[in-house]
Amino acid sequence: MLSRLPVEVNPFRLVEQRKNLTGVISQSRMPRLQELLCDNKDDAAEVNATLNFDRTEMGLPCITGEIEAQLDLSCQRCLSKLDYKVVSEVRIILVQTDEQAERAQGEGFDTYLVEDERLFLQDFIEDELLLALPLSAMHEACDADRPYIEGLPEDLVEEEIDDTTDLAEKEEKDNPFAALKNLKDLE
Ligand SMILES: [Zn+2]
Repeated sequence: MLSRLPVEVNPFRLVEQRKNLTGVISQSRMPRLQELLCDNKDDAAEVNATLNFDRTEMGLPCITGEIEAQLDLSCQRCLSKLDYKVVSEVRIILVQTDEQAERAQGEGFDTYLVEDERLFLQDFIEDELLLALPLSAMHEACDADRPYIEGLPEDLVEEEIDDTTDLAEKEEKDNPFAALKNLKDLE
């Protein structure tokens, strides 16, 4: 079993030590992530992370690595459980001021602002995870027999159908719910 990650680290010290941190952190410690999970989620679920503290070729302090989790998301169409594996490649420059952030971003880096040389790993990992998630996670095809689909707010439906990505178009075709919506419009 992997070890627990520390709650808080001094990332700049870890950079000097070229340290690698590998371990797990509980999903239950991430309130913003919790909001995206379904009601019958696994409360013991964890996030795996491997984080390398180092410097870039230019000497900027950075974290690289990978964050991975199996999430019980709530489907944005039918609201039932959606198993979703998220893998986030981490590649950020640690900065301490807005000026440093602007400079690094100008050179094409993603940055993470660290105040008082303290990095709360659960916040950092949660931020990275949320960035890696789709804006609106949905089943490819929800089970049309679920009775509570009809209770979905209409504006949410419209938002999905207006979205003209390939996926949305495919879903509109495959999705009996979209046909329902069209029938309603004819009335
Ligand atoms: Zn669904």
